[in-house]
Amino acid sequence: MPVGFGMTDTTGILLSSIPSVDKLLRTAEAETLIDAFGRQPVTDAVRSDLAHLRQSIAKNSGVTEKQISGDSILARVTATLESNITPSLRPVFNLTGTVLHTNLGRAPLPEEAVEAIAAVSRGASNLEYNLETGRRGDRDVHLEEKFAQLIGAEAVTIVNNNAAAVLLILNALALRKEVIVSRGELIEIGGAFRIPDIMSRAGAKLREVGTTNRTHARDFEEAISSRTALLMKVHTSNYEVQGFTAAVSETELAEIAHKNDLPFVIDLGSGTMTDLEQFGLPHEPTAQEALAAGADLVSFSGDKLLGGPQAGIIAGRADLIAKIKKNPMKRAMRCDKMTIAALETILRLYADPDRLAERIPALRLLARKRYSIKETAKRIETVLAAALGEKFEVLQQDCQSQIGSGSLPTERLDSIALVVRPTAAKGIGTALKRLATAFRRLPVPVIGRIQDDALWLDLRCLESEIEDAFSGQLKNLAIK
Ligand SMILES: *Cc1c(COP(=O)(O)O)cnc(C)c1O
Repeated sequence: MPVGFGMTDTTGILLSSIPSVDKLLRTAEAETLIDAFGRQPVTDAVRSDLAHLRQSIAKNSGVTEKQISGDSILARVTATLESNITPSLRPVFNLTGTVLHTNLGRAPLPEEAVEAIAAVSRGASNLEYNLETGRRGDRDVHLEEKFAQLIGAEAVTIVNNNAAAVLLILNALALRKEVIVSRGELIEIGGAFRIPDIMSRAGAKLREVGTTNRTHARDFEEAISSRTALLMKVHTSNYEVQGFTAAVSETELAEIAHKNDLPFVIDLGSGTMTDLEQFGLPHEPTAQEALAAGADLVSFSGDKLLGGPQAGIIAGRADLIAKIKKNPMKRAMRCDKMTIAALETILRLYADPDRLAERIPALRLLARKRYSIKETAKRIETVLAAALGEKFEVLQQDCQSQIGSGSLPTERLDSIALVVRPTAAKGIGTALKRLATAFRRLPVPVIGRIQDDALWLDLRCLESEIEDAFSGQLKNLAIK
């Protein structure tokens, strides 16, 4: 690099004493790094560190002699290489108090499902191969019959998520025709899933009836015409209309639809295949109940209350499912083998309803009792207080967990949180932000929620099996 105008002597000296890439790569430390990370990544990291050094020196940013020593350079290179191999997508502790947290990956899978995913993804599988006949098969056969049996449906088909399921149903059954929906159900759920938008993207025409708070049977009856393709009900997952309200029951809607030879479709949203009351949870309409009430098709998510992988399940009348399966969009929305493997395991667990609450982690977490969470709180409290030191106080406090993913939105579950408060009277907001950041920077990031001038760590999802992993890493907490 030419010594430019205005460049001081020290600048020139610093620049000329930067070690060369070759020299650095020949050191024993670099050899070790090359063994661990590969020659190319190490070379790239060294080059980029040196380029950065030269820039900083040229800008007179106070680079010291020590910083350009081989040891310092290789220490920085090691840190860069290590951070480069930290996956972007990785496990976290969900202590937000929202069990099925969409941003945190929703339902945790049972170990058996994780093993099934590993087994099927490691090598070849009979994904679309019929082992009996030796001919090409259909990937859906691994699930459809078992699902249909459990739900009591004539037929079932599976896609990538419930948003895809709704889009596919509408496109297959209502292209260029009208779909009648109550105004009270034109919902938006997180991540820009809005019923009216999905409807238009699917090529169907939305025909809204009734008002936000009240919709009657006659509203539907009067809206039906030769342009109508189907009647639809959308489970208002994430909110509740209270007060002066009226909605048409599913049985009634089914009757109106069938009198007019139209299918009646329900987007259940969360959807479940078991009565949640057995776990001390409020009732959530099951797929079985919706079909028994006369729905011709229902759709629901795989990773909400079902407790499985991300998927969308469509169940109901065989002729309608056949039509959906023939739609070219189905091919674009098909599940991969890992999802199918995990779902098959979930179905096996559902076949044994007595042990569901132990074996499906999502249900186990939702059903977890306050006394069990209290035990965790007692064990963790002192460890946490010791790790945080005098600048913070840690208290056990009653709190309320949420189910999440828009399921049973107004329901709350009694839980216990460890509440961390800065002891200083001033700068509480900043202290809390730094605290939350330090928790997020742990090897397995811990996600809580800030509320009432404190960081709340709801312990519902910290089961005893993962407690040690949680406490063990607290020594790494680095609060700025
Ligand atoms: C969650 C939800 C969806 C979308 O399901 P995904 O599986 O997240 O795609 C659609 N409709 C309702 C009513 C929902 O609650």
